Amino acid sequence: MTRRLVLATRNAHKVGELREILADVLADLDLQIVGLADFPEVADVVEDGVTFAENALLKARAVAAATGLPALADDSGLAVDVLGGAPGIFSARWSGRHGDDLANLELLLAQVSDVRDEHRGAGFVCAAAIALPDGRAHVEEGVFRGTLTREPRGSNGFGYDPILLVEGDVRTSAELSPAEKNAMSHRGKAFRALAEHLGGMLEA
Ligand code: IMP
Repeated sequence: MTRRLVLATRNAHKVGELREILADVLADLDLQIVGLADFPEVADVVEDGVTFAENALLKARAVAAATGLPALADDSGLAVDVLGGAPGIFSARWSGRHGDDLANLELLLAQVSDVRDEHRGAGFVCAAAIALPDGRAHVEEGVFRGTLTREPRGSNGFGYDPILLVEGDVRTSAELSPAEKNAMSHRGKAFRALAEHLGGMLEA
């Protein structure tokens, strides 16, 4: 019988994206990913960890405890080398307004406007976690490296995608197709690394 894994998000797009990233593993293990839209009674989790891994584990543990099902969660952001890893866990609200992607990236570009090209390294980071109702948990990280552009470019994706020039490419992350981005993204890498542990954890 197909077993359900709950992804700690109410965002249907994120559920669809993860189904694509993990398609082979889900088929092999006969697993189905559902989102929190199916569990309206589950309260939002306060993300008060100070690292991506802590926040991903917090969310996965809370959802596993609340639903009684294995739960997946992720936490991600942009880490800029010259800023010591900022905006980091504050990526979604760097400008002070949560989720205002344009204000966030404009503030960031202004802050590093005097930084020379060779020092503009940055990377998207994602921590992906699984937690089981019995308390076992595991977390993996993935990084998607590039350099900061001077102007936003491209219209795919979200967040800081238009200002990360992909390492080894001439395009920004916002100029990649969704499939291309999944193949090299921080989220893709973190969840594919996590997937290697799914079979063992779910069977034990
Ligand atoms: P969350 O993990 O979905 O909460 O992402 C936190 C924030 O990090 C987002 O609001 C974006 O600003 C940024 N971020 C995370 N992943 C990406 C990405 O793939 N592209 C662009 N921005 C991202």
